[in-house]
Amino acid sequence: MKGRSLAELSAGLRGREFSSVELTRHLLGRVAAAQPTLNALVCITADLALAQAQAADREIAAGRAGPLTGVPIIHKDIFCTDGVQTSCGSRMLAGFIAPYDATVVAKLRSAGMVMLGKANMDEFAMGSSNETSFFGPVRNPWDLARVPGGSSGGSAAAVAARLAPAATATDTGGSIRQPAALCGVTGIKPTYGRVSRYGMIAFASSLDQGGIITVSAEDAAIILGAMAGFDPRDSTSVDRPVPDYRTALDRPVAGLRIGLLKEFFEKGLEPDIERHVRAALEVYRRLGAVVKEVSLPSIGLSVPAYYVVAPAECSSNLARFDGVRFGHRCQDPRDLADLYRRSRGEGFGAEVKRRIITGTYVLSAGYYDAYYLKAQRVRQLIATDFERAFAEVDVIMGPTTPTTAFELGAKTADPVTMYLNDIYTIGANLAGLPAMSIPCGFAAGLPVGLQLIGPHFSEERLLGAAHAYQRETDWHRRVPPGYE
Ligand code: GLN
Repeated sequence: MKGRSLAELSAGLRGREFSSVELTRHLLGRVAAAQPTLNALVCITADLALAQAQAADREIAAGRAGPLTGVPIIHKDIFCTDGVQTSCGSRMLAGFIAPYDATVVAKLRSAGMVMLGKANMDEFAMGSSNETSFFGPVRNPWDLARVPGGSSGGSAAAVAARLAPAATATDTGGSIRQPAALCGVTGIKPTYGRVSRYGMIAFASSLDQGGIITVSAEDAAIILGAMAGFDPRDSTSVDRPVPDYRTALDRPVAGLRIGLLKEFFEKGLEPDIERHVRAALEVYRRLGAVVKEVSLPSIGLSVPAYYVVAPAECSSNLARFDGVRFGHRCQDPRDLADLYRRSRGEGFGAEVKRRIITGTYVLSAGYYDAYYLKAQRVRQLIATDFERAFAEVDVIMGPTTPTTAFELGAKTADPVTMYLNDIYTIGANLAGLPAMSIPCGFAAGLPVGLQLIGPHFSEERLLGAAHAYQRETDWHRRVPPGYE
């Protein structure tokens, strides 16, 4: 059962090579062994997992198994899980037991998946290093002195260390792709509206999108098919049939028009990353793809636009944590204002407070036009840039991150340096586009990610292109030393 992909584990379960209970026990053992060093989970649901595995084994025995029946998964702690702690990496929600399942969790549960526990994450998904979590940082299994990326750092580290074949994740500005790149795993952020946000704790609602981190594109295709689809409980969910992502994997890449994004190679990119990304494009050329340079003139404004829009939305979304209805409440408040002030002051960490303050400022009457409105205009320019580029190419490719995993503490003192981690990923969120990161090499022993961005609802094309590359290379199969 070691080192196998989700597709292989699924085949093993249905071929009765091992039971779901055996697989679940095996992975729970790995989770427990890795927890003291990686801190990838905030809660381990062993009893629930074994009960779900037993139920899955009964389905398998009755010949009713689907591809995900009995396959273990870890859910990012941003997804509400019925009867299980849902803390969003925050003191504000530490110990909060959700009274219902997020749609994503419910769908994967009904597909027969077994939940091993909840993944650690940056507080309220704000961060790029998993260092803002109330539950402590996650460590990168490739080098324990380094960060796994964020905000889905626990999900990426868990899949990289083979604690589970898959982990759910969310991406508001890069939080699936950036940690996937830094941990050497595959991550897909679908088109905005493709996967339901119901029960996914909101950070910036117009940007947040749930997705999945796996070992391979094939595995991502299997799970995405079960996660995606219209949800009447999410008003931004798109009513559009879910294609069979798995059969789309084998589409040939010959003739695929790949756009190499000029602006992503201009400055700040580590030379080793550039080398690996260019080598990956050579692989596509060999397979018959056509590579040409494209330009997105406004993309350089994506980080500033994002750091107006995302804090604005977060300041509004996080207003619900007031110490009254749920979450942390301070001791012995003097009056209502004191209750709000101290509950929020104690419950939120520094980065969340910084964002709330920024967001409140940019939305305030005197500054709305100068900041918020302007950022929305820039957002539209970026979306138009992408539209123009996709008239010429089918997929845009480039690096996922400017650097490989950095050391814990290296960027915590300077928020802007931290924000620049997402310089290549934020554009896709602002435009609502699907994007992936797949492993494409190593620099000084640390994983490098190749980013693929496509037009709206081109998940099949992205997964197919990623799968074609993964058939030619084995970067995605590398396991960190000590976790084989
Ligand atoms: N790192 C970015 C931020 O801090 C993106 C986070 C995310 O995608 N959730 O906002």
